[in-house]
Amino acid sequence: MRLAVIGTGYVGLVTGACFAESGNDVTCVDIDEAKVHRMSAGECPIYETGLEDLMQRNQAAGRLRFTTEGKSAVEGAEIVFLAVGTPPGPDGHADLSQVLAASKTVAAGMNKYKTVVIKSTVPVGTSDRVRESIQAGTDMAFDMVSNPEFLKEGAAVDDCLKPDRIVVGADSERARKRMLELYAPFVRTQNPVLFMDIRSAELTKYAANAMLALRISFMNELSGLAVSVGADITSIRRGIGSDQRIGRHFLFPGVGYGGSCFPKDVKALIRTGEENGSPLQIMVAAEAVNQRQKSVLFEQMKAHFGDLRGKRVAIWGLAFKPNTDDMREAPAIPLIEALLDAGATVSAFDPAAGEAARALFGDRIRVASTDHEALEGADCLAVITEWNAFRMPDFERVREQLSAPLLFDGRNIYSPEKMVELDFTYYCIGRSPVVSESARPWSNQDASGRI
Ligand code: NAD
Repeated sequence: MRLAVIGTGYVGLVTGACFAESGNDVTCVDIDEAKVHRMSAGECPIYETGLEDLMQRNQAAGRLRFTTEGKSAVEGAEIVFLAVGTPPGPDGHADLSQVLAASKTVAAGMNKYKTVVIKSTVPVGTSDRVRESIQAGTDMAFDMVSNPEFLKEGAAVDDCLKPDRIVVGADSERARKRMLELYAPFVRTQNPVLFMDIRSAELTKYAANAMLALRISFMNELSGLAVSVGADITSIRRGIGSDQRIGRHFLFPGVGYGGSCFPKDVKALIRTGEENGSPLQIMVAAEAVNQRQKSVLFEQMKAHFGDLRGKRVAIWGLAFKPNTDDMREAPAIPLIEALLDAGATVSAFDPAAGEAARALFGDRIRVASTDHEALEGADCLAVITEWNAFRMPDFERVREQLSAPLLFDGRNIYSPEKMVELDFTYYCIGRSPVVSESARPWSNQDASGRI
């Protein structure tokens, strides 16, 4: 099939490349000329496992191309995907300006019947708005489809090629048939294509992210209680996760959820609830817990040091999660801001997000090119993103580089027993801190690890 994908961010680029991989003819459109130029030269603008190979292979086969010419891309397509951003507006609403701009591009290229598919995460009712916007610019017939994307950054290509399910909201048989045909190669293992009405599809995406965010906030809030009562959140996680009704995923406590989806989607869902007279109190609470959780490590550091002025903090992990370079709403950002405000200095390392961090912080922090370089002269290490490369560090070297063996683990990737063995002072989430023998006795510090 001939496809146009408007917007080539994490979602548009991955979907475009995956559709090309199954033999479709795909034109990806973006308004960012520099990005289009890079992609046309075979360069992947984001860090995503397997994506560059996929792009290059399909470009070489002539099935995938990139352009800023939206109108002609739409003209040549049978199915047009809208995969532009829907960032949070100042009041929590999803900002639909990119979606509405893209719908004008669609209208401009409407030379025959097309299926117009919204892949971006959009509030309920957006498909109707896009339909009206396109109708205002053309007399041609078209169908609207809501086909929300569930890929995870860091495993996006795999998720896209082997999705758990495909959700298709459509109100026309013609559109449903096209979508089924398009997705047939992706669901050969029997994972379902779930057809529903458009509004339900739009809301399904928010419901999925809300449920995942809820689980994280639940575990984060429970972590505080676990420390208060002398329990260990890791044991509790195992204890509940092995219940099949609960399951093991998304029960890991940490420094709060971030990224380009959960924070904005939770906010947008809260707004949708308010506007429609069905407030979602549970999501309001999940968001409040998440906000508080982002300051847990900073509070631990303040309690430990007393005064953070002049302290040098090394940070490992800047991206909002491993295997991506995406720093949108990353928990590292508020931590770094709080540390700088408190007069500390920060040197940080991330295997992929160094460039994003430089763009965000400029010379306000030092972005190191290796994990150990970030440690030079530091007073403590804080691990914020659980990249595999951080799981088994050379602790002897870490100890030598730090002014004292002091570690703040925002992802519980190390074991407290190991930290006792290594004689580190170790703070983590939802488990009692470990105090280095050489650091005792402390000077009037609160070692509770709680905030
Ligand atoms: P992104 O910000 O990375 O990319 C958006 C792209 O659209 C940019 O390259 C931008 O230049 C381009 N663009 C903006 N306006 C345009 C226009 N009028 N015409 C052509 N191109 C235009 O966004 P993303 O992370 O890929 O997310 C896209 C959508 O998918 C969002 O609604 C998001 O919530 C949703 N989503 C994202 C993820 C994820 O993990 N990132 C997962 C599922 C769903």
